[in-house]
Amino acid sequence: MSLDSSIERAIKLVTLRNALEYDGKAKLEAVISKTMASRPDLRSSIKTIIPEVKRVLNQINSLAISEQRVLLQEMSPTTDAKKHAEKISGLPPLYGAEIGNVVTRFPPEPNGYPHIGHAKAAIIDDEYARMYNGKLILRFDDTNPLTEKTEYYDAIKEGIQWLGIKPDLIKNASDDIFLLQDYGKKLVSSRGAYVCRCDQKTIQEYRSKGLECACRLDSNSYDEALTEMFTGSFDPNEATIRFRGDMRSPNTAMRDPTLFRIIEGNHPILGTSVRVYPTYDFAAPVEDSLDGVTHAMRTKEYELRNELYNAVLDRLHLRKPVVSEFSRLEFEGLPVSKRKIKPLIEDKSLTGWDDPRLPTLIALKRRGFLPEAIRKYVLSLGWTLSESKPPFESLEAFNRRIIDDYSVRLFFVREPVELKVANANPVNVCLKNHPSSNLGSRSVQVDDTVYIARADASKLSEGSIIRLMELYNVKITSVELADDKSRIFADVIGTELSHEIQKIQWVAYDDKMPYRIIVPKKLYSNEQFDRDSLEIASGYAESFVSTLQLYSSVQFVRYGFCRLDSDQQAIFTHR
Ligand code: ATP
Ligand code: MG
Repeated sequence: MSLDSSIERAIKLVTLRNALEYDGKAKLEAVISKTMASRPDLRSSIKTIIPEVKRVLNQINSLAISEQRVLLQEMSPTTDAKKHAEKISGLPPLYGAEIGNVVTRFPPEPNGYPHIGHAKAAIIDDEYARMYNGKLILRFDDTNPLTEKTEYYDAIKEGIQWLGIKPDLIKNASDDIFLLQDYGKKLVSSRGAYVCRCDQKTIQEYRSKGLECACRLDSNSYDEALTEMFTGSFDPNEATIRFRGDMRSPNTAMRDPTLFRIIEGNHPILGTSVRVYPTYDFAAPVEDSLDGVTHAMRTKEYELRNELYNAVLDRLHLRKPVVSEFSRLEFEGLPVSKRKIKPLIEDKSLTGWDDPRLPTLIALKRRGFLPEAIRKYVLSLGWTLSESKPPFESLEAFNRRIIDDYSVRLFFVREPVELKVANANPVNVCLKNHPSSNLGSRSVQVDDTVYIARADASKLSEGSIIRLMELYNVKITSVELADDKSRIFADVIGTELSHEIQKIQWVAYDDKMPYRIIVPKKLYSNEQFDRDSLEIASGYAESFVSTLQLYSSVQFVRYGFCRLDSDQQAIFTHR
């Protein structure tokens, strides 16, 4: 039977909503009963409807969650998108937002690699744009040629893409450099700003005393100084353009902040053709306004600058977006700021932006974190204002839930110690690759010798009983633990499972593969970089590991989840 399109649409909508509620997998019974509830007229033909529901359900369940979300938005742009986003994200509605008329932007400076904090900002911007069927702009705030590099623009674009975010527009503030300069000139001509020739020390002193300087007071010289500023008469640091604010304002951000400065540098896009660059305080509001941004969200440390943001736009008679703030995301013992990370990369304390100790997106990816987990995590935090630093483990929990189902279980023994089982008969054991998912199995030949981890060996003594997982129970007959040669002897005493017997993993003598696991620890201890924050765990893994796809996730039993990083090496993801 071919269904009429309104019925098919009804089934699809119900299925998509149900799928998004249950991690991308709609449930057949629920979809059938909800379809019937929404279309009571179909009850009489339920027998013919059910196979159609099954067909639609299989189709939708095979899509990625992000695809399901897009599909739902396309089918039901208003109510569903909004309801769904509020439900999964716990984000509050946006002040004054209208469906179809929301524009958000994520404005990174291309001066480093994106990190988990950027992910938070970008995901919130993206989520709101989707929630209101609006638009998201990725705008590079690239107005400082001394710190910005092409490599960083690319890294940010890649990071955003990895997160599953598709901006509706990608642009650079530097594309508008001459427009920005023109607005700056206009502001000086209308006496809303002035060229200041004071040195930094004087500026600071006057700011703290609440005094106006001679450059500000002599408004007759404004135009001449402006011409000099733009025609190259001044050296860097010799002049800036400052907002005519209020030198006595209790908000120090209003005490004539700098709007433009002279910088001589090779800009990744503009080269050396431009010398006068706007500061963030000028470029951000003007760009937001001109780009049509309706809701500008940023982190809380900018809160005191909101007054300036609005004052700049007022004075230029430009439209004002709604500005709001959320808290910065940073983990306990793990700084995210580029300011703190960069020096550690430069002095080689870290191996690079993808050093697995870092909270950069490229490092999290390398370590085995999935973008879906990051998104869910960020949205679970909601719109917080408190500056708490959650432990890194709170992110791990979201990732574990996702990778658990498809990570092959394998044995790895750290610092192997030989265990000889005197009365063992050679066996070929079949080990399941996963306790519940259908990931196949492997067979391992065991003669009379296996390796166990030193940490387990060190707890044994004559008479101890342990179970070699999936193999048999053994009783220890002697233990020799030395730095050069360690050996343990045992006898098989049975195969029955018992709660009282400790179960440990092992690697068979002929199946061993030398293996390294890189274990990232907390980067900082007591606010200081910890030189011992990267540990290498060496040992043996089952040779089966070499048949697995590079970069896949595995779980080394009793050790933790790891992501295969290269031949014979993995990176520890989390427990
Ligand atoms: P950094 O200190 O790492 O240089 P930044 O704030 O200077 O960070 P930008 O590239 O200017 O980084 O930031 C782009 C956007 O990302 C801004 O809107 C900023 O508020 C947001 N952002 C940056 N760090 C965090 C964070 N830790 N948590 C949440 N949002 C952040
Ligand atoms: Mg910055």
